[in-house]
Amino acid sequence: MKFQVIPVTVYEQNCTLMWCEETARAAVVDPGGDLTRILAAVEAAQVTLEKILVTHGHLDHVGGVAKLATQLQLPIEGPHKEDNFWIQQLPQQSQMLSFPPAEVFEPSRWLQGGDEVKVGNQLLEVRHCPGHTPGHVIFFHRPSKVAIVGDVLFQGSIGRTDFPRGDHQTLLDSIQRELWPLGDDVQFIPGHGPASTFGRERQSNPFVADIALKQ
Ligand SMILES: [Zn+2]
Ligand SMILES: [Zn+2]
Repeated sequence: MKFQVIPVTVYEQNCTLMWCEETARAAVVDPGGDLTRILAAVEAAQVTLEKILVTHGHLDHVGGVAKLATQLQLPIEGPHKEDNFWIQQLPQQSQMLSFPPAEVFEPSRWLQGGDEVKVGNQLLEVRHCPGHTPGHVIFFHRPSKVAIVGDVLFQGSIGRTDFPRGDHQTLLDSIQRELWPLGDDVQFIPGHGPASTFGRERQSNPFVADIALKQ
């Protein structure tokens, strides 16, 4: 599996294009906007998009989902259905935040922890990580030890929890229960900013380092 990060929208959200090298079949995770740039990356990689994956329902992650799905007739997988209330608010949110108009969409498949998602011949494991939003999921490709974690965890920080139905302790629990067991050597692509590894965050992240969580 290959991964390419494409920062999109004014929030520099890390949209990820990933593809199976055996089949050249690809998925795009969190196409928040700037669809021309995403489609240029698809073209440059010479791959065929087969689906859209969604970590959670926030505008900067899903603002381009409806348009891209309609334009290319792609199925949408994720997030967990607890994020539906965010998806239903997309038109108002895009107006409030001066984003290009974003439409409501209906995923072809809502995801749950323990589900698997296929991209070409590759399998991604789905984990449910509530806290930032109640329906946030992450995608883990075990053979390459790469996780796409959206706004659950960042290099040196964690997701905001001051939104409706956000909860700080729930987020801390999700990170410890769903992310850390995947392994210290797992590299993760966060929703914003540079990549890191779980091991490094367990050492130095002020919110979720082992030493911080023990206090
Ligand atoms: Zn978010
Ligand atoms: Zn975000």
